[in-house]
Amino acid sequence: MSSPTPYPHLLEPITVGDLTLRNRLVMGSMHTGLEDHPWDLPKLAEYFAERARGGVGLMITGGYSPTRRGWLKPFAAEMSTRLQAMRHRDLTERVHEEGGAIAMQVLHAGRYAYHPFSVSASAKKSPITPFRPSALSTKGVDDTATAFARSVALARKAGYDGVEIMGSEGYLINQFLAARTNDRTDHWGGTAERRMRFPVEVVKRSRELVPAGFPIVYRISLLDLVEDGQTWDEVVELAHRLEDAGVTVLNTGIGWHEARVPTIITQVPPGAWRSMTARLKAVVSVPVCASNRINAPGMAEDILARSDADLVSMARPLLADPDFLAKAAAGRADEINTCIACNQACLDHVFTNQHATCLVNPRAARETSLVLLPLPEVPARPPRVAVVGAGPAGLAAAVSAAERGFAVTLFEKDDAIGGQFRLAMAVPGKEDFAETLRYYGRRLDVLGVTVRLGIEATLADLALFDDVVVATGVVPRLPDLDGIDHPSVASYADVLSGRVDPGRRVAVIGAGGIGVDVSTFLVHDPADGFDDWMAHWGVGDPAVHPGGLTERKPRTPLREVTLLQRKHTPIGIDLGKTSGWAHRAVLKQSGVTLVSGVTYDRVDDDGVHVTVDGVPATYEVDTVVVCAGQESVRGLYDDLVSTGNADGRWLIGGADVAAELDAKRAIAQGTRVAASLPGGR
Ligand code: NAP
Ligand code: SF4
Repeated sequence: MSSPTPYPHLLEPITVGDLTLRNRLVMGSMHTGLEDHPWDLPKLAEYFAERARGGVGLMITGGYSPTRRGWLKPFAAEMSTRLQAMRHRDLTERVHEEGGAIAMQVLHAGRYAYHPFSVSASAKKSPITPFRPSALSTKGVDDTATAFARSVALARKAGYDGVEIMGSEGYLINQFLAARTNDRTDHWGGTAERRMRFPVEVVKRSRELVPAGFPIVYRISLLDLVEDGQTWDEVVELAHRLEDAGVTVLNTGIGWHEARVPTIITQVPPGAWRSMTARLKAVVSVPVCASNRINAPGMAEDILARSDADLVSMARPLLADPDFLAKAAAGRADEINTCIACNQACLDHVFTNQHATCLVNPRAARETSLVLLPLPEVPARPPRVAVVGAGPAGLAAAVSAAERGFAVTLFEKDDAIGGQFRLAMAVPGKEDFAETLRYYGRRLDVLGVTVRLGIEATLADLALFDDVVVATGVVPRLPDLDGIDHPSVASYADVLSGRVDPGRRVAVIGAGGIGVDVSTFLVHDPADGFDDWMAHWGVGDPAVHPGGLTERKPRTPLREVTLLQRKHTPIGIDLGKTSGWAHRAVLKQSGVTLVSGVTYDRVDDDGVHVTVDGVPATYEVDTVVVCAGQESVRGLYDDLVSTGNADGRWLIGGADVAAELDAKRAIAQGTRVAASLPGGR
């Protein structure tokens, strides 16, 4: 008999300790920033309540420090007193009311702390924080292990269904485990066996303070991806000791934050690390949870069906869509708003001191302030809304307005939805962006939005609507440059859409996000597969190479690219905090020539003529690709407001402000405008 669901393994309950989870999906820990202040806890409660309603089996909070010194930043989340625990009771109750289960993560930042009171195994500064930690005294280590256990006990008092002890990603526990960061000679260091004592002691003491059935998840680092990281034998030995000490589940982590191998961003092949989880599962007896770069129910099902893991953790995909599991279970996986692994609104926010949210779901962690209220009652004729332009801003506005109950018509002059996102999809490593368009396309269909493709809306068309949202987007900017009409010149849109096939030698004018993306596109060898990706980043077998790092295999760029900008700043410096370094590294590995401080003189048959620091230079190239930003297209909006009332006329996305337009701003603005539509006009 065929299975009634394509995800039988994902939907199968599992019992961990005394806790039965309704399915195998875990929402992994993701710090939102709402953890840090008591006054934000009601918002955090609604964030988790919405996801509990969406059916996920277990959720894990962002990290709570067991001590002040373990804070991620000044006054960051902490769980060390009864008062702090009691403040969480409303949150855990809200989750339970919605049928969910939630575990609290205990995380000591160690040398990743962003404050001058940080401590670690040894006084070694991390390359990603400005503060040198003090080495904990022997007694200090002992006290910290006790503090971890106290946090665990307090989490139980707060109503949490379990805890996760953060032992990966390079935080304090990981710092004890690796020779890289632990050069102690006392009880807590000196040999691999002694370096393992701290995490084992943390788990042992925690177990002593909570009943045997209370789930203690331990997040173990499978691949440190740093020099002098752990060997595979050490990882396995640690896993066995943790089992003996009383862990209930081993969750898995890949790569320290300071690792120079990307582990979760778009360019990482989906499911890249599952084989490491399978390797651990084969040698332990407690359930093992897979994590990192898994974003689709089909992938999760496959991991479980092949017994690579017993549970699958996704953090960002649950920010992107709180109903991920419910949709998969209901046979509506094609309506899942997929996380595109961009990091732009989640981790980039966290690492720049802003509250996390999600590029494709601006309601994430804004559940109480960005509300899509349904229209009060179903009137005989729902208010009509026209949205003009089906790029990210227009799509977000159309879908959000339709979700509220408006009758929406979406006009798009091209013959497909997507706008600039269709170009982004063509960039190597950004293939997942196509999922966002699949999501919007399907939602438009399900919500009954009238989609009119290949139509340039006129004032007459729009006169029939109560509200008009203009999202007519942008056009690539053509700089005022002698020779800009030379046949060798193309825009990024020409190149990414395939209208122009660039030659072997290319100059790229403009090094913003798109200039970097286009350069990556130009050098990328489409024949590169999964093994090449691993080899280019130097990922090796940790059984042979400690930390899983080996020599990098050089790339063979498809073209010779020179990337130019007028600013004197390093190229790519303004890219996302958590992904920019990887994009810059790909350019470097691919031999792209980066030139800042350029003045453009002209383009002619010889190539691009520039002046750099007063010295003229010519780059002899076959093609010049212009990535010099965009200009707003807002003629329609201007006509609308000049011929009538500006009331009910909205301008969003790149048509509103082209400068530094990105999908994060566009989707958020489209959603907010839809949320604010009054109805009943
Ligand atoms: P952008 O970031 O504004 O960069 C365009 C660059 O072109 C400017 O940095 C500017 O640098 C140069 N430029 C501007 N006017 C020029 C002129 N008249 N002549 C020559 N050069 C000129 O725009 P974009 O690269 O098109 O990206 C658009 C948006 O998408 C941005 O917000 C970007 O962050 C986002 N995006 C992000 C990513 C990502 O990885 N996070 C990827 C793609 C796009 P100089 O003046 O210094 O030369
Ligand atoms: Fe995923 Fe990007 Fe949303 Fe983060 S911001 S959850 S990476 S889609």
